[in-house]
Amino acid sequence: MTILHQKTPNPISSSLIEKCRQCARLAEFLDTVRIQYPAYHAKPVSAFGDFLSAKLLIIGLAPGMHGANRTGRPFTGDFAGILLYQTLYKFGLASHAVSVSVEDDLRLFKCRITNAVKCLPPANKPQPSEIRQCNAYLATEIADFIAHGGQGILALGNVAHQAGLMALGLKKKSFAFMHGALYHLPNGLRLYDSYHCSRYNTQTKRLTQEMFEQIIARICADLTL
Ligand code: SF4
Repeated sequence: MTILHQKTPNPISSSLIEKCRQCARLAEFLDTVRIQYPAYHAKPVSAFGDFLSAKLLIIGLAPGMHGANRTGRPFTGDFAGILLYQTLYKFGLASHAVSVSVEDDLRLFKCRITNAVKCLPPANKPQPSEIRQCNAYLATEIADFIAHGGQGILALGNVAHQAGLMALGLKKKSFAFMHGALYHLPNGLRLYDSYHCSRYNTQTKRLTQEMFEQIIARICADLTL
């Protein structure tokens, strides 16, 4: 399957990242997933969105088995993407309200989406060593984001929050994860926190549509989007 991204330069080429096997456990897990689901992407998943003028970088956890791991695009084709993309669309940050396939011509405006860990982890739980290993990619993405005028990061969940801090070389103790938090980081970036828009969080009402829209509304008011 050919992965269609917005026609702008990703700081890490899809072909490079898709060959990555630095985390043996995850690479071997993906080998088994590829056999079980031959039609699935089942490789590391690259970032998606606006690579030239994004002001907002959204960081998730990792590809979901039947979402990004299947389609090859972050938050595409699974439950977690429903609230995310419909909210981005509502606030003018996406061309469509739904994201189901890499061939749906979806475009993001002034924002891009990536994950703390680019490979599907068993049980959605990457190990600390895997988060650290993949952090070099995230650091490259954040550096590129800043170089192109990026202003704010939205961390979806604590793992994304911690990974963002690690990529920026910041002490985690100084910036605790809390839904609704906004931190002004030393490099000028703003760091926003939200609970992850996972099926569990949305179905248990830990994260409601209203709560998530409040955060995106605040970001849109703060940043020059
Ligand atoms: S999680 Fe990241 S570093 Fe580890 S194998 Fe996948 S792409 Fe490579």
